[in-house]
Amino acid sequence: MKNKTAITVARGDGIGPEIMDATLRILDEAGAALDFEEIKVGKEVYEKGIKSGIPDDAWESLRRTKVLLKGPITTPQGGGYKSLNVTIRKTIGLFANVRPCISYAPYVETKHPNMDIVIIRENEEDLYGGIEYRESPEVMASIKLISRPGTERIVRYAFAFAEAYGRKKVTCMTKDNIMKLTDGLFHKIFDEIGKEYPHIEQNHMIIDIGTAKVAAAPHLFDVIVTPNLYGDIISDVAAEITGSVGLGGSSNIGVNCAMFEAIHGSAPDIAGKGIANPSGVLLGAVMMLVHIGQGEAAARVHNAWLRTIEDGMHTGDIYRKDLSREKVDTKGFTKAVIDRLGQVPEKFKPANYNGVAAGGIEIPHLTPYKDEEKKRVGVDIGLNFDGTAEMLAAKVLPCAGENLELQHISNRGVKVWPNGQPDTFCSDNWQLRFISKDGGNVRTSQVITLINRLNKADMNFTRAVMLHTFDGKPGFSASQGE
Ligand code: NAD
Repeated sequence: MKNKTAITVARGDGIGPEIMDATLRILDEAGAALDFEEIKVGKEVYEKGIKSGIPDDAWESLRRTKVLLKGPITTPQGGGYKSLNVTIRKTIGLFANVRPCISYAPYVETKHPNMDIVIIRENEEDLYGGIEYRESPEVMASIKLISRPGTERIVRYAFAFAEAYGRKKVTCMTKDNIMKLTDGLFHKIFDEIGKEYPHIEQNHMIIDIGTAKVAAAPHLFDVIVTPNLYGDIISDVAAEITGSVGLGGSSNIGVNCAMFEAIHGSAPDIAGKGIANPSGVLLGAVMMLVHIGQGEAAARVHNAWLRTIEDGMHTGDIYRKDLSREKVDTKGFTKAVIDRLGQVPEKFKPANYNGVAAGGIEIPHLTPYKDEEKKRVGVDIGLNFDGTAEMLAAKVLPCAGENLELQHISNRGVKVWPNGQPDTFCSDNWQLRFISKDGGNVRTSQVITLINRLNKADMNFTRAVMLHTFDGKPGFSASQGE
């Protein structure tokens, strides 16, 4: 008897318990050498008053086993508790989200029979920091964070993944025509690291046309690497066009821990009906078996699953009268997979994980980067004001001084003073940009004096962000029209 590997299991919400039961039964029947430690997370835990949605003993189990197989979890929209998925990913540093999206034509209906792409999504940064502020009665703001080490890690992972799995091309997708600093950094690092992989074809696309191309011509892609939010959206698009969002599994990889799950959510519309497709969590579990070095069991499960799909045993989400043999519920599908353990598909390429390293692929190193000369050249001050740009300028101009001059005022990112356009809509939240008059270093005391003067002039100050240059290059964006 092989040594068993301890893994942590969370059944999740909605259809989670049904599809997790199905998955665990199949793993058991396939002879996977696993010891399950079950933890409770999600809705039930929040409702007991544990705000993070994950109790201390669950973290302990996770830190001990370092592997989590998780059912989907319900997250409320537009308010309520924070997403537990995001909390787990960020707390244990699961920086890479890997989502293979493959079509199974002609057995599963899809417009794209030759689709086989892997989306590698940065998993911790970007707008998913969930750092948001109400800056004025009228305006909400969200902070988008892209770090150099975070980006380097995910980009290196994407290239290393492509290499390990014999993939030929890596496409980076960002919106750096608009977000020149944040997405610009992501794109720049992609170009830098890409040079270390000359044998892998590589290109960059703007995310909007990139997503459209994935939907219309997925055969153009192989591996896609992209920041968190774009990756979230594009992987649902890609999973859905394979035939059903219910078919995709995914892994979340960190330096010490890893989490495996379905791409889809808790599907509250069909929860408790016993009709959900368990394939997403099951294929997530296949990725988990490979990760913990049980490639043989992984192939056994994957091949039985491929054979089940080929044999036309289909749950409602992929059932088509002309393509399927039998419409089965979750239990029926589970039995069909178990009955085929030991068989291989006849039409699809059989899965084989011999030679794939346990622990997945090596987590790539980070390159040290050179120190740049950082100089403080000004400050952006946010404030609330009811009135026009001209009225605001008249009030704040006398507050400048001490080598800081008011360069411009912007509203919602558009320059509105001096020489603003009469048609620009202005909210009650304004930004004043003060710049050092002689290009010299701006001292903190100068900024504090400025804020004191604004306070005395009864200006409703909300925030100050120091402006720096790095080796002479501005570390801040220009306003539209500046
Ligand atoms: P969803 O993926 O749960 O459902 C979208 C549609 O796909 C629904 O019609 C659903 O019935 C169908 N579907 C999904 N999985 C299926 C399956 N296995 N078999 C058959 N049909 C399936 O997306 P949603 O409705 O936007 O989200 C519901 C909840 O899930 C939300 O609270 C959301 O925050 C959460 N969610 C969780 C995760 C996660 O835990 N990783 C991921 C996405 C969404």
